Amino acid sequence: MEDAEIYELAGDILGRINNETNDIIYAPLGGKLSIYWSEKEIYGAYASSLSQSDKPPQHSITIYYEFVRQVWRDIENFCEFLRSRPEADFTPYEFYNNRTKLPECFNEDEHVRNMFIAAITWVYFHELGHLLQEHGIIRHEFGPRGNEAMQTTHVHDFEVSHHKPINDREALVSHVTELAADFAATIFYATDLLRHIEDPSFADAEERPEVLCGTLYLMVCGLSLVFFRFNGSKPIVPIAAVEGSHPKPLTRLELLLSQICEYLGIVETETGHSFNQELLEVLCTKAVFSTTMYWSWTNGDDFDVSFTLRGGQSSPVNMQYLQKIVAIWDEILPRIKEVRRFLSPLILMRFTDTFREKLNSVSTQGSSTEANATAVTPSSPDEFRISS
Ligand SMILES: [Zn+2]
Repeated sequence: MEDAEIYELAGDILGRINNETNDIIYAPLGGKLSIYWSEKEIYGAYASSLSQSDKPPQHSITIYYEFVRQVWRDIENFCEFLRSRPEADFTPYEFYNNRTKLPECFNEDEHVRNMFIAAITWVYFHELGHLLQEHGIIRHEFGPRGNEAMQTTHVHDFEVSHHKPINDREALVSHVTELAADFAATIFYATDLLRHIEDPSFADAEERPEVLCGTLYLMVCGLSLVFFRFNGSKPIVPIAAVEGSHPKPLTRLELLLSQICEYLGIVETETGHSFNQELLEVLCTKAVFSTTMYWSWTNGDDFDVSFTLRGGQSSPVNMQYLQKIVAIWDEILPRIKEVRRFLSPLILMRFTDTFREKLNSVSTQGSSTEANATAVTPSSPDEFRISS
């Protein structure tokens, strides 16, 4: 596919979603959400808000052409990688009781296209999450500058890291709003997926479970590739410190995958469609394993376990990081509820009592060197532009 065709496809997909978002959310508020495209060679996207919280929202999302081009190429290369590697490389698939590399209910073109649609849609929803919760206002009010009166809010939050390293409270507020936008994006995506299941043209009743699982599998592959691209070649090293403008990409991926499993594991559509929790976990784990394998081999010449997600809650250092996130979230949530543009409680990040108890049982004192380690700063701040 030529680059121009990728841009056209992305424009069609996001334009359609943006029209729906305007009809459903912004028009009733008397506001508007615009979508812009930038030719700067940056892998990312960002959200901007020119509104004050007591006025109708005037929001925009900007996507870089380079971002959608790279997402498509990564997905294309990933599919080619799966097709070209010897069968012996895929022996670990036996662990998942399924040696199929990509869902057989779709053809090769559909694999790439569906992964691409899912990945860029999720990124759009991430930016939408920032805007609907007015994270620009939140960062301004809860950051180090205090609660000066808001005049104009540009939610180019990642831009902060372009000029100076950020840490302490500014970083904490930035991290938590990133995770909150991830949370909102994942709920938007899952809701959209469930809506498709109800659509008779999605698949006939017999094929529907397979098509549904296949679609979700491709989504997890596509999204994992986006986060691996953001991560670059850095291995996963859990740290408790909150530094920089964004949480580590693979930490974000890990958190949102457990959120997908939790959410889709409990919902049921009007026609009684539901996911089996265990099946969901296997499906997500296998998809991530596949992308990890691809990323390892394209960044080295063997499978690199340092890229393997390890389950965030099993790491005390990760839990120490999350203790800080939960505390600041509890502090800012009442204000988010005041300024948000979308009232559904579903897209508000939440932590269960069980999870909070687990967090409380973890020592707040870092005892390992990991806990005191300095976060690896992004090699290029532009890597993090996804999460404005
Ligand atoms: Zn963001």
